[in-house]
Amino acid sequence: MNRKYRKTIIAGNWKMNKTPSETKEFMTALKGMLPRGRWCDIALCVPAVCIPAAVRAMRETRVGIGAENCNANPSGAYTGEIATNMLVDAGCKYVIIGHSERRAMGETNEDVNAKVLAALEAGLIPIMCCGETLEQRETGITSEWIAMQIKAGLKGVPEEKIRKIVIAYEPIWAIGTGRTATPEQAQEVCEEIRTVVRKLYSSKVARAVSILYGGSMNDKNAYELLAQPDIDGGLIGGASLVPEKFVKIIESANQNAE
Ligand code: PEP
Repeated sequence: MNRKYRKTIIAGNWKMNKTPSETKEFMTALKGMLPRGRWCDIALCVPAVCIPAAVRAMRETRVGIGAENCNANPSGAYTGEIATNMLVDAGCKYVIIGHSERRAMGETNEDVNAKVLAALEAGLIPIMCCGETLEQRETGITSEWIAMQIKAGLKGVPEEKIRKIVIAYEPIWAIGTGRTATPEQAQEVCEEIRTVVRKLYSSKVARAVSILYGGSMNDKNAYELLAQPDIDGGLIGGASLVPEKFVKIIESANQNAE
């Protein structure tokens, strides 16, 4: 990470875990453990029904609450969907877009792009995910695949708005598998993502955009991953469900800054 030019962000993705009551319990525990002093930005993206409890609990803290998905339309006949202005009104600061688990449910690059544009318009910080399958990695097309996902996801995003976006590199083979990318593998792709952003925008923009790594990041491996120059934080699934583990990851980010 490079704190001189960009933010360090530790973000949790709870997926479909925890009830509103469990959210309150977790947040109360987390509040009591948060490190003081040198902070990185902290985000917790939670199931939609848990957002009010999370926002209420973390109101006086520097932890931003986020959603795990949004709909790109402003309103209308989309049963079960949630619009970006609803998330803002509920107190969200972040929204995860294009997670591989949603892409596996049929979300396309066009959908991701529409959601990124809608989130930015509403004032949310999109955490836009990209990542390759194991098969793609083994056939040597990781760079091309990731570049394509980034270009498609950022289509039509103006330069003044790209600074608000957070990109998360999440190799699909590392998500929820306990198989983490090595720091070198993660750094290599995060650096390539920055190069894609540089070519699309400018060196200044590329230097300022925060790129996270996600995929079995935990309290044991976070320090080494976060020590890489182009990894500006983490998107954390499993380990974000346990306050002690999540706090240790935050501490790893803080230690790397010292
Ligand atoms: C994720 O869901 O984005 C993720 C990285 O999960 P895990 O940390 O459990 O691999």
